[in-house]
Amino acid sequence: MRVILLGTGSPVTAPGKLFKSSDSVRANATTLIHAGRETLLFDAGRGVVNRLSAAGISGKVITAIFLTHFHSDHIVGLPDLWLTSRLNFAWGGREIPFEAWGPPGTPALMTAIAQAFTPDLDERPHDIRLPLVGHELDTNKMVWRRNGVTVTAFVVEHGTGSIPAYGYRIDYEGSSVLLSGDTCYHENVIKYGKGVDLLVHEVIVVHPGLLKRRPDLLRIFNIHTSPEQAGRIFSLTKPKLAAYTHIIFFGGPAFSSPTPAPTTRDLISQTRKSYKGPLAVGFDLMSFDVIAGKVAVHRPPRQSAVRA
Ligand SMILES: [Zn+2]
Repeated sequence: MRVILLGTGSPVTAPGKLFKSSDSVRANATTLIHAGRETLLFDAGRGVVNRLSAAGISGKVITAIFLTHFHSDHIVGLPDLWLTSRLNFAWGGREIPFEAWGPPGTPALMTAIAQAFTPDLDERPHDIRLPLVGHELDTNKMVWRRNGVTVTAFVVEHGTGSIPAYGYRIDYEGSSVLLSGDTCYHENVIKYGKGVDLLVHEVIVVHPGLLKRRPDLLRIFNIHTSPEQAGRIFSLTKPKLAAYTHIIFFGGPAFSSPTPAPTTRDLISQTRKSYKGPLAVGFDLMSFDVIAGKVAVHRPPRQSAVRA
């Protein structure tokens, strides 16, 4: 399997700090997995089309989409992906419907997106009519299988009320990858993540003191996982490699905070309090080859101005 972190950020951006804030240069958390004949997209957030293009992947090759939950940073790129894929240009030209699987409500979401863009579709009849189809995963089975690839959904906790949020485990030819989705510390990540090759987890890093000054942020903090908690999960599951995505740095200008935003160094040092094993801090377009029980990391060339 090849795993590509197309986006590794959060909904937050910092206006005016494009090349200084790691929040503003990361696209929303979105992950692509090539496994045999399948190319699976997990969520579609802000920047998904740009990141796919940068990775040299067109809209034609995606065979299935999986959604973790319906927060905007996980679905806001869906219309862009769908509409750009239907244009008769090099990147697009897709003729096979997009099919998305996810929590209850996924079919209604796809119908609503399609309806919202009816004027665009009507005014550009020369482009491909590309259906957008939603499926709810069967809550009794929570399993999707095709061409030797198994995707297993599991429930996590992200304050999404009556609509559950999902994490996903992907298995192919003896290799395994787990994506936590957005969640606080959750036993299901440990249950499904035991011994996986690659465990990709979300994380929130908060500057000490910020939550005291901004108690309103506690609600958000409580539906995510701290580095120390993620470290505990990594220690219990023992993946060949643990990697972070959906990295939320709480602090700095985006939060009108007088203290600077936490850094990747803070993220690593806080993780190391509870985990000593292999760790990668994700960055957009970082990729992993997961083959025969081994995980190789490919880091994108970074512009010096966009260091996390
Ligand atoms: Zn999110």
